Amino acid sequence: MRSDRPDEVVVVGAGIAGLSAAHRLAAAGLPVTVIEAERAPGGRMSTQAVGEGLMERGAQFLSTGYESIPGLLATLGLEERITTVSGRTMVADDGRTWRFDTRRPLSMVSGGLLRGRDLVPAARGGWAARRELAARPTNDLGRWTDLDERDGLEWARERFGQGLTRRLVSPTVHGLYFQELDANSAALPGTLAAFSARGASAFTLRGGLGTLTSALAETVTIEYEVRVDRVQRPESPGGHVVLTTSQGRREAAAAVIAVPAGAATRILADPAPDEAAVLATPYSRGLLAGLALAEPLAEDELGGAYGVLVTPGSSSPLAAVAVHSRTNAGAGEVLTVMFGQDAARRLATADHATVRAAAVESVEPWLPGLADRVTDSRVTRWQEAMPYVPIGHAEAVRRYRARLPAGSPVVLAGDYLGFPWSDSAAFNGLWAADRLVAELTGAPPERSGTGP
Ligand SMILES: Cc1cc2nc3c(=O)[nH]c(=O)nc-3n(C[C@H](O)[C@H](O)[C@H](O)COP(=O)(O)OP(=O)(O)OC[C@H]3O[C@@H](n4cnc5c(N)ncnc54)[C@H](O)[C@@H]3O)c2cc1C
Repeated sequence: MRSDRPDEVVVVGAGIAGLSAAHRLAAAGLPVTVIEAERAPGGRMSTQAVGEGLMERGAQFLSTGYESIPGLLATLGLEERITTVSGRTMVADDGRTWRFDTRRPLSMVSGGLLRGRDLVPAARGGWAARRELAARPTNDLGRWTDLDERDGLEWARERFGQGLTRRLVSPTVHGLYFQELDANSAALPGTLAAFSARGASAFTLRGGLGTLTSALAETVTIEYEVRVDRVQRPESPGGHVVLTTSQGRREAAAAVIAVPAGAATRILADPAPDEAAVLATPYSRGLLAGLALAEPLAEDELGGAYGVLVTPGSSSPLAAVAVHSRTNAGAGEVLTVMFGQDAARRLATADHATVRAAAVESVEPWLPGLADRVTDSRVTRWQEAMPYVPIGHAEAVRRYRARLPAGSPVVLAGDYLGFPWSDSAAFNGLWAADRLVAELTGAPPERSGTGP
């Protein structure tokens, strides 16, 4: 039902960023409506049923190192749903696999992932990260400008040595973000080192991560299946923002645009140079196949790992596999098979059966006989899965935030303003809300903590 209140704030997009923004705006007493193109909330943080199990369509797990999402979980009473994710991990590279446990770093050596000579540079890099990086915010890209000019691959090699970079850092960036390390600045491996230096570990929520976005959605007004086509700033100071939507024109006091860069570029009329700079962010694509199995994997299958990370450049078409039963989140078994960029492009228009067959075939070298165990499947595609953090991007984000003119009624909150993980997306939403709360109520933001 359309609300039509020109004094309200409209948030475009009901992903974790838009929902975090709307939740905070509503908590500050401002009238707010979220407009969402799909028929359900969550975007890239949503969960769907596959067979007897659950498939995460986007975000697979959260980290104890996160800084914005824990507050949301506490506010929404979701902490009791937290469940640990196994630290057991498998790295795969052309015919070879290594197993280790992220909670026992020395298992990287006993499992053969690292050689003795890799240890000294890796340990030295770890100590430096604990000293220099552990306390830095990992949700706010604008605070990482000092690592902005360095190539991520070069920086990681210099900091942690060739061995750790090739065997762990590169597969992590490939497996988690479907990206190559050298397409990112040092800010990306820098934040990964900060998480590791904090001793961060993975967790999820019983019922899936969609539980978080669904709970947030319950706290705000959302109009579903309405697409925003255009957002225009007021023609004169004090005027209204004009939104053109699939259901007609509407006015608002302010708007938060919380959609990925391509969608935001189509929506935002006349972007200013600082806006155009952040909107130019490239993304990796996502192609995921959720394979439901009749029975959970046996203890030793896939090395007992929750996640398989595939080394970039290997002959496997995959980036990663996640094993649902090893998240302790209940329900039946689902393998979430995530393709690398070449395969995601090649299979972009392939039908469900073709993608499912490619997923099964790609996992079978590690799990013989898989084809006979799959009972159901789902395929998810993301044209814009995860934003890169290219050289110079942290500075572009810092500039956008610092130079956003006072009184600006249109604020960007897409994930291209941050790192490719949900905590950073939530931060972007909270930051946008804090800006508007300060502008519209004249009051300093109550729970800011989101920086300048
Ligand atoms: C495959 C994959 C795995 C990931 N794994 C992890 C992980 O393990 N851990 C982690 O923390 N993060 C992970 N991430 C990243 C995380 O999912 C994102 O950072 C986060 O969900 C982005 O949220 P968002 O709100 O910025 O964008 P989105 O979730 O994309 O939300 C944008 C919303 O806007 C809507 N929309 C778009 N255009 C319009 C329009 N014109 N009008 C109205 N509505 C519109 C969309 O339908 C969508 O609901 C992963 C992402 C992917 C794709």
